[in-house]
Amino acid sequence: MNATAASAQVSELLSAAGTPAAARERPSNSAGLSAEAIAHLNERYAPLDFEQRLRRLYQDFAPDKVLVTSSFAATSAYFLHIISRIRPDQPIAFIDTGYHFPETLAYRDYLTRLFGLKGFDLKAEDWKHQFTTDDKTYQRDPDLCCTINKVEPLDAIKPRYHVWVSSLMRWQTDERASMSIFEERRGIIKFNPMIDVTREQRDAYIREHRLPFHPLVAQGYSSIGCTHCTVKGEGRSGRWVGKPKTECGLHL
Ligand code: SF4
Repeated sequence: MNATAASAQVSELLSAAGTPAAARERPSNSAGLSAEAIAHLNERYAPLDFEQRLRRLYQDFAPDKVLVTSSFAATSAYFLHIISRIRPDQPIAFIDTGYHFPETLAYRDYLTRLFGLKGFDLKAEDWKHQFTTDDKTYQRDPDLCCTINKVEPLDAIKPRYHVWVSSLMRWQTDERASMSIFEERRGIIKFNPMIDVTREQRDAYIREHRLPFHPLVAQGYSSIGCTHCTVKGEGRSGRWVGKPKTECGLHL
């Protein structure tokens, strides 16, 4: 979207929300949307199902300003299958921490071929990643390790985009239970079209479309992140075992 089009869209959202732009606080996200405009988007998208929300997103935002990430984890095929049907040209960013299971990288490559995805990887700077290896930061301070290997590489490209699409669902964690369809997080508009999808609905979709799980699911892993921080277990119980940490920080 060029600056004029973006400005026109923002103005439309603002006027639809019913308050003059001049009366609003200065937005702190790359799309330039005010809190009122975000609230208005939530109202408009709430009655839609997740597929309708995704289709609508590509009408309301310039496609080249839409950022999609995937962890290629346990059930990522669900989200990626839907994205690939609705927007086949959408690039998919994978945050390569350098600590993934080989099975995750194989699953990434497999799904990329299966769905014809256009993927690209994000990584920490070599010296920073090497520091977390030498320092064993994942043991000593996993929040710092996630910041270096996950959060910073993504933060570096956020300014290029206006909206970041996630596949989060409320039932997955306490932190996710209070999330909205649209929200501002760390300088970008987050779009969570599946936030109200139930586990049963997700599983039914996976069965209907015979989608492949991550290969480690068959070995008892339910939520799959880095090798240092993932063990077998139900739900997200196998992540950061023995530590208070429940999220990598990307979505907080
Ligand atoms: S999940 Fe563990 S190994 Fe991976 S980036 Fe976070 S702390 Fe580091």
